[in-house]
Amino acid sequence: MSKQLRSMMEEILISDILIPADKVAHVQIGNSIEHALLVLTKSGYSMVPVLDLEYKLHGLISSAMILESIFGLERVEFELLSSLKVEDVMNKEIPRLKLDSQFQNGLQTVIDNAFVCVENFEGTFEGILTRREILKKINKEIRTYIYQNDINFI
Ligand code: AMP
Repeated sequence: MSKQLRSMMEEILISDILIPADKVAHVQIGNSIEHALLVLTKSGYSMVPVLDLEYKLHGLISSAMILESIFGLERVEFELLSSLKVEDVMNKEIPRLKLDSQFQNGLQTVIDNAFVCVENFEGTFEGILTRREILKKINKEIRTYIYQNDINFI
């Protein structure tokens, strides 16, 4: 790895490109899956974090998980929407990053995930790192590099 690429990777801080917790649509432990479906539909996101009252991260829930949970063998069991809780349906095995994780770990994680949740040192949810924000940052860094080194593409 060239020196410049190495320092670029080391200088990008996850905290600089994080979408902060107060701007992240989420649901809470104890919410019905009906409420989660409403949040997902209204926000336009296909997956959101599940937090508790202390902002600890418990999992991720998506519209696909909710729909899967109400599909019975013979019919769609709509009554489950009000009886099932988000914790009955969410995915608990999720990738997580710490605030001081290397940018490279974030980059690696968003290859297979549209976003990754970031926690602070006490395990409190700080926000999310999205594929879009990572691509924007890399694009900006590459453009700066091209400009500073006077590189011309034909
Ligand atoms: P993007 O890379 O911006 O397309 O975002 C990828 C995914 O991250 C979205 O599909 C959502 O699941 C999640 N996401 C992005 N921004 C937010 C937000 N403000 N609140 C909740 N989830 C978000």
